[in-house]
Amino acid sequence: MSSPRSGNWQNLRVPVNRVPRRLRESSAHLRRLNLTAVQANARNELLEKIRSGKWVENQTACPVCGADGGRVIAEIDRYGIPVTTVICKVCSLIRTVNQLRESDYAEFYSSFYRSLYDGALHASPKFVDEQIVRGRRLVRIISRHIDLDGKLVVEVGCGAGGVLRAFQEVGSQVFGCDYGEEYLEAGRRLGLDLVRGGISEIPTGIADVIVYSHVLEHIQDLKGEFDEIRRVLKPAGKLVVEVPGVYKIHRQYAGDILEYLQNAHLYHFTRQTLTLICSKFGFSEVWSNQHVYGVFSPDNDVRPSIRARKDVRLRPYLFLCRLSRHFLRALTQLLIRNTYRGAQS
Ligand SMILES: [Zn+2]
Repeated sequence: MSSPRSGNWQNLRVPVNRVPRRLRESSAHLRRLNLTAVQANARNELLEKIRSGKWVENQTACPVCGADGGRVIAEIDRYGIPVTTVICKVCSLIRTVNQLRESDYAEFYSSFYRSLYDGALHASPKFVDEQIVRGRRLVRIISRHIDLDGKLVVEVGCGAGGVLRAFQEVGSQVFGCDYGEEYLEAGRRLGLDLVRGGISEIPTGIADVIVYSHVLEHIQDLKGEFDEIRRVLKPAGKLVVEVPGVYKIHRQYAGDILEYLQNAHLYHFTRQTLTLICSKFGFSEVWSNQHVYGVFSPDNDVRPSIRARKDVRLRPYLFLCRLSRHFLRALTQLLIRNTYRGAQS
C-alpha cells in the first residue's frame, strides 16, 4: 500500500499550509529544548541521515481501514525531526504517515534512540527505578482483570526489566526480550532472565501473559507483531498493552501537542483506536481505559467495528489543545478538563 514519498503530498487531503507554523518549523522550539551534547549529536546525525537520503521515507496507509493520507496534525516532532503525523479521516487512528524503512528504524534504535531520548547509552539506576514504579502501577491496574500468581509473564521491549521485576513481586514467573544489550545487562544484574531481540526470540505457546508497556506505538509491522503474539500466547492467554494516551496531552504536556510527539512513535492511541487495532488483528477487548491500558484475548471471530468505535471527540480535543497554547490559556484548559472528563475514566 505504500509508495515512495518523492516529495509529493497530493495523497494528503489537507493542504500542508493549514498546519500551524509551530507544528511545521522547528527553529523557535529548538532554542527551548536544552539538549545535552549527547542528544544534540544524535539529533544532528539523525537529520543528516534523512536529508542525505540514506534513510528513505515511504508513505503508509492506515493499518486499520487502509485509507491513504489523513488530516495533517504536525510535520515535526518534539526534537524538530521531520515527521508527518496525520489523523485518519475514516477511523481516527493517529499515525506517522511518512515512515522510514524497517532497516532504517533498526539503525535508529541501535544507534540513536537511547542517545536522543535518554541522553545515555546505559540504563541508569534512576531509569531502572522508574521502570519498577511503572511496572507496579501496571500490575496494580491489571491484576483486577488477570490472575498473575504463578503465571509466566513475557515482556517484549523490556529495557532493563524493571516492569518485569514488579510482576515478580506478585508471584509471576517472568521472561523478557529487548534489542538494547546495555539495558538488558542492567536487568540481568537484578537476576532477571532476559534475551536480546524481539518477540521472534520467544518459544511458541509458553506465555500466560504478554506485556507491551510503551512499546506497541513503536512497532511498524503491526500485523506481523500480532501474529507473533498469537504464536507465543497460550490459547487462554492475555495480551496486556500500555501506551501513551492522546487524551492526556492537556494534563501531561499542558496541551502542547509538539511536546507529546516523538519520531519513535508511529501510532498514537486512544482507548477506541487501540481496541480497533487489536480487533483488526484478532484480539478482543477484555478491559481498557483511556490512560491507555488494555487487556485483550485472542479471538478468531472478532471484527473491527469502525462505525461503533470511531472517536468523533478526538479532533475537537486536539484543536482545543492547540488553542490552549495561545488563546485564554487557563480558560481553554478548564474547558478541556470539563469537556473531556468522561474520556479519562
Ligand atoms: Zn483508518
